[in-house]
Amino acid sequence: MSDRRVAFLGLGIMGAPMAANLARAGMGVVAWNRTREKADALAAEHDNVSVAETPAEASRLAGTAISMVPDVPEVEEVLLGHRGAAEGLPEGGLAIDMSTISPTASRTIGERLGECGIAFLDAPVTGSRPKAEDGTLTIMAGGEEEAFERARPLFEAMGALVVHAGPQGHGSMIKLINNTLAAVNAAGLAEGLALARAAGLDTDRTLEVVASGSGSSMMVELKAQPMLTGELDPLFKLEHMRKDVRHLITEARALGVEPRVADTALALYTQAAEKGLGERDFAAVIQAVAWQEVQNSG
Ligand code: NAP
Repeated sequence: MSDRRVAFLGLGIMGAPMAANLARAGMGVVAWNRTREKADALAAEHDNVSVAETPAEASRLAGTAISMVPDVPEVEEVLLGHRGAAEGLPEGGLAIDMSTISPTASRTIGERLGECGIAFLDAPVTGSRPKAEDGTLTIMAGGEEEAFERARPLFEAMGALVVHAGPQGHGSMIKLINNTLAAVNAAGLAEGLALARAAGLDTDRTLEVVASGSGSSMMVELKAQPMLTGELDPLFKLEHMRKDVRHLITEARALGVEPRVADTALALYTQAAEKGLGERDFAAVIQAVAWQEVQNSG
């Protein structure tokens, strides 16, 4: 399809399947991961994946770099730190951060890369691991039109819906709004399920009705069963959801919008994290919302 090479930095739950889809689309992928074994595993599966020792080396070999790591400090480290991508990308190169971070940080990172002559897009994604595997993510990118068009073939190999959100920071802002809606929704679902149990309702029938009515949502479809069964292997870590709501709240206050609903959601996700559930799926918020009730009637 294309002989373009791309450096992929961060091969976690999302990064590994996204990089695999770039390789399947015929792109040369130069993989780097803090824990090298994950990069070696990807290279073992795809002839057109090679492994680099540092983000700088991967970026030097590719000319375009994608980062997919947890939060602002990690993005700064892999793009701008010692042996980061900025040291390897040529002038006129392109860096794309697909992690979910704050729009303010995205703009600052974009400015710092711009000073090195490197174009930058903040291009977070929605859809958990199954959509990353299928190449059906939604991708929302902030940055210059020209950079967006350069990145389009990469995005189309990983996503089904690719949206140019606006200038730098707008991809990150849409993403934070989306995830906070999901966080609030999941917390509401957890409360509803706990209440159904406490009232002695049949949870299957409850969900049958909710799923066909105005209470339905993607969270009902994806998270009701994990909440009820307690199978919480992470598709999206609770700690990452908490981070997203926290960033949203900071941005909202800076914009003069009081985030009352998000504040409540943050308190619940924080309680769950304090119970040691940060590395579990965010469906674990049920253990902060109403765990006692679920346990008693389970
Ligand atoms: P993850 O499974 O925890 O993977 C994190 C990746 O970042 C790993 O490759 C990890 O390397 C690397 N990393 C962590 N700390 C690092 C550091 N200090 N320096 C360099 N690399 C570091 O997370 P994920 O679920 O893939 O999420 C990645 C990003 O996508 C997050 O911003 C998240 O909010 C966002 N996101 C996630 C989902 C989802 O459903 N999972 C959906 C949309 C967006 P190691 O392998 O060495 O640990």
